[in-house]
This record gives sequence, structure tokens and C-alpha cells, in this order.
Amino acid sequence: MGLFDIFKSTKPDTAKQDREKLEKSLEKSRESMLSRLTRSVVGKSTVDEDVLDELEEVLVEADVGVPTTLKIIHRIEERVKRDKFLNTSQLYALLKEEIVSLLEEESNIDIFNNQEVPKPYVILVVGVNGVGKTTTIGKIAHKFVQSGKKVVLGAGDTFRAAAVDQLKIWGTRVGARVVSQKMGSDPASVAYDTLSSAMAGGEDICIIDTAGRLHNKVNLMNELTKIKTTLSKLIPGAPHEVLLVVDASTGQNAFEQAKQFSSATQVSALAITKLDGTAKGGVVIGISDQFNIPVKYIGVGEGMDDLQLFDRMEFVNSFFNLDR
Ligand code: GDP
Ligand code: GDP
Ligand code: MG
Repeated sequence: MGLFDIFKSTKPDTAKQDREKLEKSLEKSRESMLSRLTRSVVGKSTVDEDVLDELEEVLVEADVGVPTTLKIIHRIEERVKRDKFLNTSQLYALLKEEIVSLLEEESNIDIFNNQEVPKPYVILVVGVNGVGKTTTIGKIAHKFVQSGKKVVLGAGDTFRAAAVDQLKIWGTRVGARVVSQKMGSDPASVAYDTLSSAMAGGEDICIIDTAGRLHNKVNLMNELTKIKTTLSKLIPGAPHEVLLVVDASTGQNAFEQAKQFSSATQVSALAITKLDGTAKGGVVIGISDQFNIPVKYIGVGEGMDDLQLFDRMEFVNSFFNLDR
């Protein structure tokens, strides 16, 4: 069993609850997109140029992003050419099908089958301020603790005391130990302390929080490099995962951050948060198409259970679920 299999619900009711939660989170995105799409195809019996133009606009507006939208439109054009009499109700099914197949082609990296899991498994969490790093760490820790793993969190956001306190609150809530130093201390030093104490304690998972306030890319890169170097001194190969967190509700900004961070440092996985309550859920489709980094988690609320593993098929099915 891979380390992350615990994130997939195996119990039928939990799986169902997760699916319902996802569908509910995507409600706004789905409704704003489908209502426009429906309006644009009213009275039409076939998919013509106008319908495709409208579809293009709708997808861009849903924050799928221009490159991914163009790919989708191109695929649909091809299908329309091939299956001459495509009607508009078939269009929805087709849209879903083409997006799923697009995403499958683009990202086939299997992140959940690490055969040999290093111990401790070290996750470094990066991203700009406010995107949901600390919350996501709390949620990930919760899943691991629930599955019987011992988790240590490192309070590497040393910019403000409140950040350390927030991580400590999460630690207490989910049952994970927190390592911290005083405000203003070197994040690399916190990372060092966290990992060395996790090693000494024989703990399974070590998750390091960071600040997202560096005002320029060079500083950011230097700080992240220093943290990584420090971690790899203790365990060659650590951190085993660099998780970049972005906030879906910021739309195109989330793309921009993914671009910036992945060029500044090696990012191995993405978490996209705050899908609940935003109409910009299309961001997930665009980001998972455009970056070679797998989207691993999606955040669907503020609670400790509101984190799901990203499943392309399930996501697109929920996004375009018309039976509700
Ligand atoms: P950080 O600065 O990156 O560490 O961000 P925080 O973890 O402090 O989160 C900032 C705010 O976003 C907090 O109020 C969180 O409760 C909220 N938040 C984080 N993830 C989600 C999510 O998936 N959904 C919602 N609705 N809020 C979230
Ligand atoms: P430098 O700061 O550029 O010299 O980088 P180093 O690789 O020497 O250390 C990076 C960070 O890790 C430093 O900020 C130290 O605080 C921390 N560090 C390195 N070695 C140790 C150690 O043995 N103990 C502790 N507590 N921290 C260390
Ligand atoms: Mg934080």
C-alpha cells in the first residue's frame, strides 16, 4: 500500500460523502458555467461556430485558462467534424469526455505508489501568504495521524508569532507534535530542529511550514534552497516532497504563482485550496493541464476533513455533473 492510499476513502459511505462534498464545493463553478452555456445553446440544434465561440468564452471565464481552453475547443471541433450531427445536449457529454482525456494524457504521473517510503517522510510546504498552507498541513497531518502515523510539524513561518500559534493549534487539534523557535528565527534552523527531532523520535512524517512573504524571487529561492540544503544534510533526498499550495479563488493568480514557484524551486506536487465557495474551480483543470507538476490535493473547506486527493476523472465528473 502506498503512503498516500490513506487519503482515498475505502469505506463506501465515506467515499460517497467525499463525492457529495466535492460536488457541493463545485456548485458555484458549475452553475455559473452551465447556466451561461445553456443560455448560449438555447434554440440551437447543432454545434456551430457560434456555440463553439460561446463555449470558448465560458471556459475562459471559468478560469480554465486560455491555452487549455483552446486545446479543449480544438478537440471538440474535431469531434464535430467527424460526427456530423452533434446536437447541443451531446455537447455537454462530449465536453466532459474530452476534458477527462486531455487531463489523462497530460499528467500520468503516479504519485501515490511510492514503493519504499522513507522514514521520516519529509514534506516541505511552500506558497504565498494566505493561500492555506498551514491549514493544509493541519489537514494532511490529521489524515496521517488517523491512519496511525506519528507526525511532527515544523513552524517554519517565523515571520509572525500568530503563524506559530496557528500551527500549534492545528497540532493540538489533530494530535501532531509541533517544533518551533521564537519569532524571527531562521526557518532553515527550525527545519533542522524539526527533522532531527523527528529522526530521534522515530516519527513517520515531518511536515515543514514556511512563510510566503518574501518580496522577491531571489530571496524566496535563497530561503527555500537553504531549507532544502539543511534538510538534505540530515537525510539525503529530503525533502521528499515540495508541496506548493495555491488558492483557487484567486483565479489567474493561482496560475501565476504556480509558474513563479516552479521556476524558483523544484516543486513536486500542488495543493489547490478554497474550491468551496468560488466560481473559479476551472483553475484546477487549467493548472493540471498546464503544469508538469501533479495536482495532489484539493481543499474543500476549513475543517480538518476538508482535504481530498485530486482525482481527475472524479473532479471533471463533479464539475460537469448535470443530474443535480
Ligand atoms: P497560509 O498563510 O498559507 O498558511 O494560509 P492559512 O492556512 O492560514 O489559511 C488562510 C485562510 O484560508 C484561513 O482562514 C483558512 O481557514 C482558509 N482556508 C484554507 N484552506 C481552505 C479551503 O480549502 N477552503 C476554505 N473555504 N478556506 C480555506
Ligand atoms: P549557512 O547558514 O549558510 O551557514 O547554512 P548551513 O547549511 O550551515 O545551515 C543552515 C541552517 O541550518 C542554519 O541557519 C542553522 O541554523 C541550521 N543548522 C545547521 N546545522 C545545524 C545544527 O547542527 N543544529 C541546529 N540546531 N541547526 C543547524
Ligand atoms: Mg501559514
